[in-house]
Amino acid sequence: MDEARAVIVGGGVAGASIAYHLTDLGWTDVVLAERSALTSGSTFHSAGLVGQLRSSVSLTRMMMYSVELYRRLQAETGVDPGWHEVGSLRLASSAERMEELQRLAGWGRTFGLPLEIVSTKEALGRFPLFDPDGVLGAAHLPTDGYVDPSGLTMALAEGAKRRGCRILTGARVTGMDMRDGRVHAVTFDGRDPIRTDVVVDAGGIFANQLGRMAGVEVPVVPFAHQYLLTEPINGVHPGLPTLRDPDRLVYFRAEAGGGLVAGGYERNPAPWAWDEEGPPAGFNNTLLPEDWPRFEPLAEGCFRVIPAMQSAGVVRMINGPEAFTPDGEFILGESDVRGFFVATGFCAHGIAGAGGVGKVMAEWIARGQPGLDVWKMDLRRFGRHYRSRTHARDRASEVYATYYDIHYPGEERRAGRPLKMAPTYARLVGLGAEFGEKAGWERPNWFRTNEDERFEELRPRGWAGQHWSTAIPAEHLATRERAGLFDETSFAKIEVSGPDACSFLQRICANDVDVASGRVVYTQLLNAHGGIECDLTATRLEQERYLLVTGTAFGPHDLGWIRRQAGPQDDVQVRDVTSSLACLALWGPRARDILSTASPADLSSPGFPYMSQRDIVVGDVPCLALRVTYVGELGWELYPPMEFALRLWDVVIEVGGPFGLVPAGYRAIDSLRLEKGYRAWGADITPEETPLEAGLGFAVKLDKGEFTGREALRRAMAEAPSRRLSCLVVSDPRSVALGNEPVFADGEVVGRVTSGGVGYTVGKSIAYTYLPADLAAVGTSLAVEVFGERVDAEVAPDPLYDPRGERIRS
Ligand SMILES: Cc1cc2nc3c(=O)[nH]c(=O)nc-3n(C[C@H](O)[C@H](O)[C@H](O)COP(=O)(O)OP(=O)(O)OC[C@H]3O[C@@H](n4cnc5c(N)ncnc54)[C@H](O)[C@@H]3O)c2cc1C
Repeated sequence: MDEARAVIVGGGVAGASIAYHLTDLGWTDVVLAERSALTSGSTFHSAGLVGQLRSSVSLTRMMMYSVELYRRLQAETGVDPGWHEVGSLRLASSAERMEELQRLAGWGRTFGLPLEIVSTKEALGRFPLFDPDGVLGAAHLPTDGYVDPSGLTMALAEGAKRRGCRILTGARVTGMDMRDGRVHAVTFDGRDPIRTDVVVDAGGIFANQLGRMAGVEVPVVPFAHQYLLTEPINGVHPGLPTLRDPDRLVYFRAEAGGGLVAGGYERNPAPWAWDEEGPPAGFNNTLLPEDWPRFEPLAEGCFRVIPAMQSAGVVRMINGPEAFTPDGEFILGESDVRGFFVATGFCAHGIAGAGGVGKVMAEWIARGQPGLDVWKMDLRRFGRHYRSRTHARDRASEVYATYYDIHYPGEERRAGRPLKMAPTYARLVGLGAEFGEKAGWERPNWFRTNEDERFEELRPRGWAGQHWSTAIPAEHLATRERAGLFDETSFAKIEVSGPDACSFLQRICANDVDVASGRVVYTQLLNAHGGIECDLTATRLEQERYLLVTGTAFGPHDLGWIRRQAGPQDDVQVRDVTSSLACLALWGPRARDILSTASPADLSSPGFPYMSQRDIVVGDVPCLALRVTYVGELGWELYPPMEFALRLWDVVIEVGGPFGLVPAGYRAIDSLRLEKGYRAWGADITPEETPLEAGLGFAVKLDKGEFTGREALRRAMAEAPSRRLSCLVVSDPRSVALGNEPVFADGEVVGRVTSGGVGYTVGKSIAYTYLPADLAAVGTSLAVEVFGERVDAEVAPDPLYDPRGERIRS
């Protein structure tokens, strides 16, 4: 049988880039298999715009790398990718849009992207054809541009070929041969199978069909995406920057012949072949029929932005399908099936992203790590509910239709809700819960019944004040002064059991989890570089049984990571038990008084110390009780079997009433945890940071024996960390950083906000950021740019609230 070290399926820009980068890492025995011809999928009909500034740090870095690569590809491969570094303009036709641009410009600065805000006049100087009426200014990024999608793919394929990659065209993959839960071989139509340990599904809109061959669900949803090409227009030349007017939902670039390419994101998107069957097997080098009625609102937008288009004839309309995703982010990474990788769902940014995608995927395959924090793009972020094609379609439709909208922080999506509900759901609705959604779960953000007009003066300025309620400070303060009851049933819960449960967890956790039964340990799980892959609590329930509790959205990710660490020698079972246990957290100085009214258990500190677990009864409800906190107060997380959850809620609310207990939501938690300095995975801590840099050295036990990441930490410990997660206090308590704002020292960017918000007890606007060690001393004067305005800030003690932890141990 033919063999290869890796088989990449799909000869579009993504597959070619992965082949290019994998061979660059020395994996020369690689096959790129395409059922038709190279670039015969979505790639051939792309508009080719390349914009770099994106919604997440890592994605922006990937796009920046793409540009770097596209600049040098011709010299390296001899094939011209048609890269035009003409710059880009993004117009602001409303005051809110201008604010968004200011925010983007600040963010861009943290990457060293030369993004600047320019006047309408200056923008006109660069692109004289747009109508300045109503335009307030623009963002200009001189290193953006456009590329020829087919040329780019061919250049990447050539680079791969020169390093030994075999490119098979006319090679339709028909199945995956699996052995022991991992990939073993790829089978073809009319061709010998290829034995391999690694398959990359780069099938674009066909990625789900390919995935299902390996039992992997890939929730891509094809949408018809359209643009038109005009006849030559006076003044259009290939050096014009690309132009976007998000308020009119449209984008433009010049064509070599002097015409314009004009496309956009319509409000009534058209999912195509999205159902179980998926797109037809022979759909290559093919377009969809022109859909003029659907383009009409975009055409109006085009005419409004570029009046000269009204008299220009249309050469042709391109309507092609593209792979979108339920949350508008790429889908990358290794699936639960060992050796089966996926790279798809580029949401009309696959050309811009291809360079970075290829690099990240190659590192993931060859080195086991993507090299960047790509959690937001990780295939494992999708829970089981995305097996529903209608759910995936509805979510993706909403994302597509609102693509160009301003997305205010704290905004909640609406499609496909409610889906997953805790047993208390109806009760919480009755209490006026304002729900948010995470990983399909409905979770109370706050309760309207707690609103209190006296707190209106605390409303943050600008965007941060948009999705905000006076109930947030009310619930925060009630928790600090009396008690709050939080439904955290959505927490992901994982049981690790078996004779080797302890030794296995000792090997993958940085903290010492070989503790007595009934102890709770806060720990990180590290990668080989010491970066934080998971952040959770591990409770030893019995000698051979642990309960791990992690964030709502991280269940599939953490489960996948943990399972992957288990070798054949480990006699352990790793089970997702999220659905079997509810979780109600009762926190606040009166928590003990409240709970003892309903429970005979010894809740005193000697009887039930901080970071311990007991089986107790509350009312008539049996609960696993953990004395832990994410808000910095005395309290318990109560885990009853799911069917008891509503009863438990009612009991606690009833007995808590006389003590001033309030139902409280996630936004209060966020404010409480911030002033207490508790880290959030995915924001403050990621696979790119070590616990030492994150100020979590207290949770690392280097001397407990071997564990993953230990050597890296040992080496790092030999030197003082070069950067540290630091707590900043922003001088104006109503200027609130929301994440990603640049931090300045003496006018130079020195950091980026990881988490920000208001601590209502300390009465301060708080922002966490990684700072170079020499700037991390308490009292250092800095500035944070909030919506284009630099606000003074100072490095403060971390944490600001109860630094000695007296409240949690009380
Ligand atoms: C109208 C339009 C405009 C766009 N404009 C832009 C833009 O301006 N900027 C930008 O960045 N992006 C843009 N995009 C998006 C971009 O074109 C895509 O993201 C990108 O081309 C996707 O590349 P891919 O390699 O993932 O998929 P594809 O190019 O679709 O490649 C997938 C390949 O897999 C092959 N395949 C599938 N099944 C099998 C099988 N069983 N065996 C073997 N091979 C198989 C297919 O034949 C296909 O060639 C646009 C898209 C459209 C539709």
